[in-house]
Order: sequence, then C-alpha cells, then structure tokens
Amino acid sequence: MQLTGLMSDSAQHFLALEEKYGAHNYHPLPVVLTRGEGVFVWDVDDKRYYDFLSGYSAVNQGHCHPRIVQSLIEQAGRLTLTSRAFHSDLLGEYAAYITNLFGYDKVLPMNTGVEAVETAIKLCRRWGYDVKGILENRAKIIVCEGTFNGRTIGVISFSSDPSARSGFGPFTPGFVVIPFNDTAALTEALRDPEVAGFLVEPIQGEAGVVLPDNGYLARAQRLCDEAGVLFIADEIQTGLGRTGRMLACDHEGVRPDILILGKALSGGVLPVSAVLADDEIMLTIRAGEHGSTYGGNPLACKVAMTALQVLQDEGMIVNAERMGALLREGLEDIRSPFVSLVRGRGLLNAIVIDHPEPDAAWELCLQLKELGMLAKPTHGDKIRLAPPLIINEAQVAECVETIAVALRALA
Ligand code: PLP
Repeated sequence: MQLTGLMSDSAQHFLALEEKYGAHNYHPLPVVLTRGEGVFVWDVDDKRYYDFLSGYSAVNQGHCHPRIVQSLIEQAGRLTLTSRAFHSDLLGEYAAYITNLFGYDKVLPMNTGVEAVETAIKLCRRWGYDVKGILENRAKIIVCEGTFNGRTIGVISFSSDPSARSGFGPFTPGFVVIPFNDTAALTEALRDPEVAGFLVEPIQGEAGVVLPDNGYLARAQRLCDEAGVLFIADEIQTGLGRTGRMLACDHEGVRPDILILGKALSGGVLPVSAVLADDEIMLTIRAGEHGSTYGGNPLACKVAMTALQVLQDEGMIVNAERMGALLREGLEDIRSPFVSLVRGRGLLNAIVIDHPEPDAAWELCLQLKELGMLAKPTHGDKIRLAPPLIINEAQVAECVETIAVALRALA
C-alpha cells in the first residue's frame, strides 16, 4: 500500500519544496497541514484529521487554544524580548506563578526541551561539586537505557539509540547508563560516591511509552535520597496533564529535586522550557554562568502562565485520565491479532504492532491518515496515541472505531 500517490498537486508541491530545500533529518507522514483547532488539524486540501500526536505532547491544551493565542497576540504587540540584560515586568510574575504551582524555590527559564535538560545536567554537576564535594570534573549522572532527552552533543552522549549517536562523536563523559525500571542496577550504580544525579523520564515516551513498574519512581527517589544524589525528572513529555496528573511523578507522590518541563508549557505556540529546583541547587549557578538570549522572554512568560492556567481551569488533567482509560479499553476491545500490546497512562498511550511486514506500523499510520487520523510510529513497531487532552468521549469512540477499521485493512 503506497498512499503518497493519492496526494493532491498542491500537497505534492509543498512536499517537493521541503524535500529540495530542507534538510532531510525527519521522515514525516505525507500530509501537509495548514490549520489547527482543538483536537483537529486540516491539510492544504481542507481534509480534517484527529491529531493523535499533539506535537509530541506540546499541544496538550489543543491546537490554537483561544486563551493562549489571545495572550500571545496581546503580549506580541506589547513587548516580546528584553534579553536578560534588563528586567521585564513579566519574568518575576511568571517565576512566582510557576514556582508556587509546582512547589519549588526557583525556576530557570529556557526555550527548547533539550536546553532545559542541559541546564539540569549543569545544575546537577555544579551542585555535585559545590554542595556534595565531588572532586572537580569527576561528577557522574546516572541515566537509563532507552531514554530520550533531546539532540545536543551532551544529551546524545548518553543515548542508547544508534541513529541518534552514530557519526556524531566524540561524546561527553560523565554518564552511567543502567537499565530502566531496575532498582537493583540503580542501587549498585549509586554506590559510587562521585554520582551527583539520577536523570529519568517517569515514562519513556520516545521509546514507545514504556511504563516502569508501579513503585519504581518512589523507590528510585528514596534510593537517591539515601545516597545523597539528586533525583532529576525529565517531564518534558509526561508532564502538564498528559498522564492524567499534573506530573507523571505525582502518580507515586514523588517530588523530584530537579524538575524539567517543556513542550506544553506554551501549549504549542512557541518554545518554552523550564527547570525548577530549590535554592540549595539553583543558587549554585551565579550571574554569567548560564543563560539564553530568549530564556524567560516576556512573550514566553505570558504564554506559559496562560497555558498552565487553562490546563487547570478547563479540567484537562482529569479529562486526560478519564479519556485515556476509555481509549485503552476501546483499543483492548478491538482484539486485533496485529496488536500485541496496549499500554499507557492518561492520554500518553501506545500500541505495539505485531505483523509479518516490518513496516506494518508505518502502513497502519498511512491508513489512519486516509481515514482522518494522524499518528506516527516510534522505533518501528510502536504507535503513540496521544491526542490533545480536550478530546471527548464521542471522539475517543470514533477514533477507536477508525483504528479498528485501519487494523482490519492491515490483513
Ligand atoms: N525530553 C523528553 C522526554 C522529550 O520527549 C523531548 C522531545 O521529544 C525532549 C526532552 C527534547 O525536547 P525538544 O525537542 O524541545 O528539545
């Protein structure tokens, strides 16, 4: 089945432009989008689709949420960037808002997710030297196999995905990779007194929505506490309501020492990320030692406050939990021989495809696209199903039916 050939001339025109003038560092589904509203996006031929990727969970609040867009427009016409050479009347207000909401002393604002991860790594190392007393240049951070935290040299240095790493060395030392969801391995790795931190995704999103056993996060946090090591949660994909709680760590009552947020912090309208920590950690970095031209810009501050407020005001987090349960139930009920596993939490879900054709997951996504639903395979055989958190019951039922039809077509 090769459905690219069914694209209109107009869609093919846009595809050809990207192909010719854009770097080939992505392999998108052959669909050209021009408009979005709520759970829907429209292509250049005005065909409507359910968006089951939500910009990799950046669009939790739904496409072009009116209150977020309103904040963006108002602030864009007033003041967008001061750099951190000067103060703005919004950074302090935003910092107070987000630290109160999540219960930390301080925030360090950045832009993309990976910058926030880099920031957390720098903070952790600095804390390791200044507070824990690790000898200069010896600090180590424990990470888990299968983790995805972005694309910088520092972060791919501990990736276990060959396509993220190969041909990009030399890499940055100072990371110890252990299996995910393995407290024995963590206990062993924590024996090293030069370990400053443990960086973990509460659910491994890119790896295909891999959930640890219940209790893993709480045990890991306790082990870190006992070893005097910082527990660092990358909640860039799992946070902000996606799993049916404000943070995925909330499912286990875990409060990370360093919390990393991104993606939905702006509801998908511009890159906004943040690192939250208490003073003992945050104040180890002093003026001039870290920063970013756009980090904490007034436009981002305004948008982030609105994006966080609508999540709470509009019941999106509770809805994510309810709709997620319905979605998984519906997917289980399909009983397709080609789905070996349905897993997830809240509205961060995946199905694992088991089919003799190696590119069956890709074919299924092409079929879904034809039927008006957009999703994308990750790591070959897994398809993430993560619609905006505002999806309703009837829409979930309709999408489950669409997936059932597409699975039947796989036969
Ligand atoms: N961390 C996690 C858990 C992610 O899922 C991602 C992106 O998918 C990142 C970090 C990197 O974020 P960005 O692409 O905004 O740099």
